[in-house]
Amino acid sequence: MLDRSTHNVVLPTETIIIISDLLVAMTIEHVLHMAKGGGETSYAKNSWLQRRALLETTPLLDKAVREVYMALSHPTMTVCDLGCSSSENTLFFVSKVIEAVCCHRRELGASTKVELQFFLSDLPVNDFNHLFLSLKGFKESMAVGHEGDTLPPFYITGLPGSCYRRLFPDKSVHLFHSSYSLHWRSQFLDGLEGNPNEGNIYIAKNTPPYVVKLYQELFQKDFLLFLKLRYEELVFGGQMLLIFLGRKNEDAYSGELNLVYGLLAKSIQFLVEEGLVGKEKLDSFNLPIYGPSVDEVKTVVKQSELFDINKIELFEHNWDPYDYSKSDHVDDPLQSGMNVAKCLRAVMEPLFGRHFGESVLDALFDKYAHNVAEHLEREKTKYSIIVLSLKKG
Ligand code: SAH
Repeated sequence: MLDRSTHNVVLPTETIIIISDLLVAMTIEHVLHMAKGGGETSYAKNSWLQRRALLETTPLLDKAVREVYMALSHPTMTVCDLGCSSSENTLFFVSKVIEAVCCHRRELGASTKVELQFFLSDLPVNDFNHLFLSLKGFKESMAVGHEGDTLPPFYITGLPGSCYRRLFPDKSVHLFHSSYSLHWRSQFLDGLEGNPNEGNIYIAKNTPPYVVKLYQELFQKDFLLFLKLRYEELVFGGQMLLIFLGRKNEDAYSGELNLVYGLLAKSIQFLVEEGLVGKEKLDSFNLPIYGPSVDEVKTVVKQSELFDINKIELFEHNWDPYDYSKSDHVDDPLQSGMNVAKCLRAVMEPLFGRHFGESVLDALFDKYAHNVAEHLEREKTKYSIIVLSLKKG
């Protein structure tokens, strides 16, 4: 927490508050990223869970691209993937947009030229270099995979910045996409005195109701701001396809994420007992994530009075990204435990390394794999994912 008194000497109170609030808000922006590079534990190698959400929502993307393409009044279609990270998932998204344009152009027998401008956007500490290095291979594979088709010319640009800030000029974007990103909050929970969420890292059974309320208010504030900013940046008729972690139940105490992160908190508690992590470190940490219900999302969209909802629905995926089975039984809990842990480590490692120390990460995620395996043996659990398709009317 920033010590406001350090500014007292030179600045009037209003400025101090604004500046300190900005700094508190800025911290996530300047530290959050997924595990960099292309190594064994990198996000690039461990993002199949997120790829499955893209596969699941391809038909909705196709529909959005078609509608945006048909309404195009300009030869350039501008598309942005918000929270693109450093894996090939974002390029998979790009390929789906190009293919959709190709296909609709053919169907419509359109001869008019269209060019695609893609912006891949994420926080500045994202490993953009890793992504850029895969662009050459991507372009080559697109050309080989679509021999005979005339692909529309496309241009890919990186755009560092938070989606909770303005990123584009007024009315300049046709389509926004964001997958597995909008459950991240813009800042850590503010105003928590005396570690009220002791022993937990997210909402748990013994989390005080006012802490839950802080999570919910932060989600509402962030999401409303996100909608306002994107509304300004979208052309009329522009669309957004947003996919993020949520929850099935209205009750914030029984969200699916509570279980996933509850087992992670239990693994940190183990490290505290072993003397590897200070108790204060665990007690003071609250994940800057919130998984809303479909109704919570709808309420904010309606409150904004900015967008028409084309579609909102919730789908589920098994915790283990490689488990496609619909049965209630996990065949190999130990293997699934390891798969879940690898996937979560690729997302949390940089943040957890900063807070709890790099040296405890192996022990932490080994314990987590074990805890998840134990849990899956008793009960097969799933992630709830919300997909929201919006149109600027
Ligand atoms: N869309 C990718 C990556 C998902 S990982 C995929 O489907 O695989 C989530 C990404 O969201 C991370 O790279 C993280 O840095 C990014 N993110 C989180 N908060 C963000 C914010 N406020 N603005 C932009 N990106 C953000």
